[in-house]
Amino acid sequence: MFPSRAVRRPGTWLAVAVALVLAVVLIVHLDRGHPEPGSAAGGAPPSTSATAPPAGQDPAWMRPLRPGEKPPQFVLFSFDGAGSHDHWSRYLALAERVHAHFSGLLSGIYLLTDEQRSRYTGPGHKPGAASIGFGGSAAEVATRVRDLNAAVAAGHQIGTHYNGHFCTGAEPSVGRWTTPGWAGEIGQFSRFVDDAHEHLGLHLSAKDVTGGRTPCLEGNWAQAFPAMRAAGYTFDTSQPSDGVKWPTRLDGIWEFWMPYVQVPALHKKVIMMDYNLWYQLGHAKNDTGQYAQATLETYRGAYRAAFDGNRAPLVIGNHFNDWAGGAFSRAAEGFMGEVCTKPETVCATYAEVTKWMSLQDPAVLDRYRAMPPAQVR
Ligand SMILES: [Zn+2]
Repeated sequence: MFPSRAVRRPGTWLAVAVALVLAVVLIVHLDRGHPEPGSAAGGAPPSTSATAPPAGQDPAWMRPLRPGEKPPQFVLFSFDGAGSHDHWSRYLALAERVHAHFSGLLSGIYLLTDEQRSRYTGPGHKPGAASIGFGGSAAEVATRVRDLNAAVAAGHQIGTHYNGHFCTGAEPSVGRWTTPGWAGEIGQFSRFVDDAHEHLGLHLSAKDVTGGRTPCLEGNWAQAFPAMRAAGYTFDTSQPSDGVKWPTRLDGIWEFWMPYVQVPALHKKVIMMDYNLWYQLGHAKNDTGQYAQATLETYRGAYRAAFDGNRAPLVIGNHFNDWAGGAFSRAAEGFMGEVCTKPETVCATYAEVTKWMSLQDPAVLDRYRAMPPAQVR
C-alpha cells in the first residue's frame, strides 16, 4: 500500500508507529477539551464574498483545461474531528476572507451528548466506549450543528473521521477491523448525521458525506474500502505517498494521498500531518519552540515543489487542536491566509477537486500523473 522505499524504512515505521500510539493518548486527552461550555454564539453563515460565484454556480476554474494550460495548484485543507467551535469560528472567517473552501472531517460521536454515549458501539468495543470524548452537553451539540450548517452554507465539505478514534493500542483498533466492522462504524456515523438532520436541524445528511480520513491514518484498506464503497463513498484521504502525488483511483475510491515530505528544519521526511510533525519536531513535548515556523516552511516547500512540478493537489491535514500551544493551527491558518490568494492556486474541497478531475481529458491528466511526485528540497 505504501508506494515508496523511503516509506518502508524500518526506522521510519518505528517513528511513525510511536507517533501514532502517542497521538491516541494525546487525542484522548485533548479532544475532550474541544467543546466550549455554554458557548451559544454559533455564528450565522458567512455572507458570500464579492468575488465568489453565486450559490450553486461553479467557480470560473471548474472547466476543462485549455490546450497547454497547467492545472490550478489545488490545496486541500482538511481538519479531523471538526468539533471545536473556536476552530470553526476562526477557519470560517479566514476562509471567507481568502476565498478558500476546505473540508471538515467530523467525528460522528461529536453529534451525541455525553449522556447519549451508549448509542455508539465501536466494532469489538463496549457500548459507549471511545478513544475521544463525546459531544458534551446538548447546548454544545447545538453549537456544533450551527457551525456545521455555517460551513455547508459557505460551500465547505463535511466528510468523516469516523466515530470512536480507535488507533493502535485501543484494540481492536481500526487496523484490525474487517469489512463488517467498518460497515458498522460507517452505518453508525450515517445514523448520527441523519438523526441530527432530522432532530437537530443539521443541514447535512449521510448521503452528502462521500469519504474521509481514518483515525491515525490507520486501516486495513482491503477490508475498509469495500465498506466505504458500499456506503457510496468516493474518496479517502488517509494513505501516505512519497512526495506530493496526484490522487489515484483505488478500487473505485479516489485516494487523496497524505504526502510524506522533507521537513527542512529536521532534514528528514515526515508525513505532513499535525501529530506526526509534532512528534518528530519536538517529541510531542508541549514546548511550542519553532514548531509553527518549521511546519509553515514545510507547507511552503511542498506547495512550491508541486506548483513548479507536477501540480498535484496538496493535502494539508490537521486536527482542530491546540497541540503545542496551538502551533499547528497557527501554521495551517498562516498558510491558508497566504496561499489561497496566490495566482493559479485554488483552495478547494475533495468534492470540488474530484469534479474538476472528471472534467479533464484523461490523457492530459495522465501526463501530469506521469511526472515524479513533488518533493521538498
Ligand atoms: Zn484523528
